[in-house]
Amino acid sequence: MKKHSGVKDSDTLKFGQLVREKKQKGEKIISLGLGEPNFNTPSPVIESTYEALRAGWTRYSDPLGLEELRDLIRNKLKAENNIETSKENIAVTPGAKNALFLTLMALLEPFDEVITISPCYVSYVPQIKLAEPNAVIKNVDLTKNDFSINWTQLEEKICEKTKAILLNFPHNPTGKMISIKELQRLIDIIGKENCYIISDEIYEKLNFSGFLHNSIGSFTNIKDRVITINGFSKAFAMTGWRIGYLVANSDIIKIVSKLQQHINTNTCTFVQKGACTTFLMDLNFLNTFNDQLKKNASFMLKVFGSNEKIHLTPPQGGLFSFLNISKTGMTSSEFRGELLIKKGVVVTPGIAFGKNWDDHVRITLGVDENEFQEGIRLIDEFTKEISGV
Ligand code: PLP
Repeated sequence: MKKHSGVKDSDTLKFGQLVREKKQKGEKIISLGLGEPNFNTPSPVIESTYEALRAGWTRYSDPLGLEELRDLIRNKLKAENNIETSKENIAVTPGAKNALFLTLMALLEPFDEVITISPCYVSYVPQIKLAEPNAVIKNVDLTKNDFSINWTQLEEKICEKTKAILLNFPHNPTGKMISIKELQRLIDIIGKENCYIISDEIYEKLNFSGFLHNSIGSFTNIKDRVITINGFSKAFAMTGWRIGYLVANSDIIKIVSKLQQHINTNTCTFVQKGACTTFLMDLNFLNTFNDQLKKNASFMLKVFGSNEKIHLTPPQGGLFSFLNISKTGMTSSEFRGELLIKKGVVVTPGIAFGKNWDDHVRITLGVDENEFQEGIRLIDEFTKEISGV
């Protein structure tokens, strides 16, 4: 039981269940809470998966993944991320989440320190605790005015015991992206320490502000200490398929391979075949989706811009925006509960992403335009109706 202590159920998943139950009862709910795109997996991926099944791709694969897929990933990393690697350094895993967990299991030893950027994806802290119950977690905050990294805090917290820093840009939950200059600054700060950077880039293709996505694995001087994590869930609406990957140096990959053999054996073989198609197909649907995200973000900025009770820092990429509700005088859980009861709208409380973020709520941008606009108008109404601080 030791490994479970202090690890809670995923709040976002639990709330998703509550919403599904309300919908089943016929209540109108506008969900701006969940973390998946609102389009279906592209049909070429579905078709090639059917074909793979018919052709007998139903057996075990290499624990690290099909060579064909790892070749395609290697080419993608070079062309899109400027990351030079080989297929031997890539492990295909059941989801980016699993890639992250295998990485943490491979790296962490008792009393290692891990730096997370707060707010952060709800599974980071539980995964660190599960991978190594005696790991020490240190938070570095994003600043409340524009969600950039608090560099002073980072310099204070990084030390010789720091084993890894967990990065995630485009960022869940704020929608912040990171510039080359900021990555360089990070590299300069960690330069003296021998720590790893785990860079979760699952939202890289959801980018609607013109801000370029930058991968820290492309910096050759630090490349061997970077583990890049990515997957298919968000860009290709494949959240239920469970496939992702990681790129790491040969020593780490050797450990990941061992863990994979004994935990997952391999990622579902015909799903791997389907994922190959994502590298070969027309990606125009992504422009459509990014246009939708951009439209929703602009609408929200316009509506909330004239509301004194709330403040929104413009999101740059990813699937989310993070709304400052401090002037409502409510905690983020109170806000979520009242909003659901009074207006039938679901958002995710900021407290789920870090203890200092109880004055924010997360709003998903990947929602049908009409539904999104109705939800935003209702949030606007709701906040104007409360008396606040
Ligand atoms: N990383 C981040 C930052 C996420 O927000 C999510 C899902 O919400 C994941 C990883 C999980 O991705 P996957 O579905 O590929 O496991």
